[in-house]
Amino acid sequence: MKKIKNLILGGGLSGISCSYHLGHAQCLVLEEKPELWGLLATRQRNGFTWDNGPHVSFTKQEYVRELFENNTNGRFSQMKANVGNWFHGHWIRHPAQVNLFQAPADVRARCVKSFLQGQESTNANIHPANYQQWLNASLGEEFATIFSTPYTQKYWTVPPHKMSCDWVGGRVHRPRPEDVLAGSRGETNKDFHYVQEIRYPIAGGYKTFVEQLAEGINARLNSKVVSIDLKSKTVLTENGSIFAYERLISTIPLPDFVQCCEHASPEMKAAAAALLCTSAVLVEFELPDAEKRPEHWLYVYDSDKFATRINWTEKLSPNNAPKDLKGVQVEVYYSREFPLTVSDGCLAQRVEGELVAMGIIEKRGLSKKQVNITKIPYANVVFLANTATQLEIIWRGFEAYGLQREVGDVHPLSDWSRGPSAAADAPLIMAGRFGQWKYFWTDDCIMRGRQLAIVPH
Ligand SMILES: Cc1cc2nc3c(=O)[nH]c(=O)nc-3n(C[C@H](O)[C@H](O)[C@H](O)COP(=O)(O)OP(=O)(O)OC[C@H]3O[C@@H](n4cnc5c(N)ncnc54)[C@H](O)[C@@H]3O)c2cc1C
Repeated sequence: MKKIKNLILGGGLSGISCSYHLGHAQCLVLEEKPELWGLLATRQRNGFTWDNGPHVSFTKQEYVRELFENNTNGRFSQMKANVGNWFHGHWIRHPAQVNLFQAPADVRARCVKSFLQGQESTNANIHPANYQQWLNASLGEEFATIFSTPYTQKYWTVPPHKMSCDWVGGRVHRPRPEDVLAGSRGETNKDFHYVQEIRYPIAGGYKTFVEQLAEGINARLNSKVVSIDLKSKTVLTENGSIFAYERLISTIPLPDFVQCCEHASPEMKAAAAALLCTSAVLVEFELPDAEKRPEHWLYVYDSDKFATRINWTEKLSPNNAPKDLKGVQVEVYYSREFPLTVSDGCLAQRVEGELVAMGIIEKRGLSKKQVNITKIPYANVVFLANTATQLEIIWRGFEAYGLQREVGDVHPLSDWSRGPSAAADAPLIMAGRFGQWKYFWTDDCIMRGRQLAIVPH
């Protein structure tokens, strides 16, 4: 059997980026779905273009910015992100911790008081043991209890005390006292969201930024990987094909990869099973009158609502919806820690009721044609307190099969300024959001492929 130089598992952006940067002629990609692109697969329906959750580019990587510009021939929009929050009947600018003037008076008073008390008593160089402690120290206990804890439970599907805080980086704004005070008195012109300027293609959805990377790719679609023999270096797919390889690059979800590996130890399999990822249901509405808010997207804090984040597809590009129609997409999250116990039909009805209650759409009986449900089994990697320990067990186990340890390989974020990876010429490599089990945006997925193509001297 002829050996494939680089056998890449998974045809999402990470797998495509690895193949592109290593050279498509040197690679074969195995993808379980009938099409490539994974999370970036854009859906066209009734004249609408839908991404899988709102996707925008806010990358600071010059390489990726240039790539996106070239791939679209400059046909993309650049805009300032307009982001908001819904909190029990109140619209609050994002981030809420520095815009408390829009919160109810009693909530505002409690949050500001507890924030200031916390600042006095907290050592500036705190080392929080978990996300709950980080929230308490950074935003004040009242804000953490009233806002952050319910939202964390909805979005990450676990309470903050179960999460680590090494993923936070700049993603949750840690305000200065003067900004909390100013924002509690009235509107300020400061913007603190970590996503400021956003870029989005004029046509075709977010995927247009990267579509050219797949030109000339060697991919086998409908090829679900079911078994991997790391000793004989062969991979078996569900349809019975066997592939021999020189080097294996996996971008498929790590828990699935470990379960497929015939030589993974019971300890590795247990560690993989303990990793947690959220799943998402996207409830999409196609309506004439659904543009009642100025924001690109909204966070919904209320625990009694399924809706967690809401966006309008045509606000990123008017080409994403037919003229005179609006497309509202609502994200609902669940996991084994926080199961979803309602049927699809019931969920659609409940979410519709929530949008009516929030004044985003008008009350009506929606036809099936106007509502669609899409499921994303792997959405966000959750960084639990023990995730680094589980990854350590898994990576150590794979070292026997050629995996090279890398700086920060058990941490959620990667630092691309470090240059080439020590693993670049190893026979077994992990890549991507779910392959490496990291907090990766699309730019990280691209950078990982690029990093692997630069072999260190
Ligand atoms: C709701 C949401 C919003 C987001 N918003 C943004 C944003 O605004 N900006 C941004 O930059 N990033 C955003 N992201 C992140 C971005 O989508 C991901 O970082 C990126 O798409 C991950 O690509 P990947 O190739 O690593 O994973 P995936 O896209 O999941 O690809 C993995 C591939 O492996 C395949 N596969 C799985 N199992 C097997 C198997 N056994 N055999 C063969 N194939 C298999 C899958 O079908 C899939 O195609 C968002 C993500 C989500 C969920």
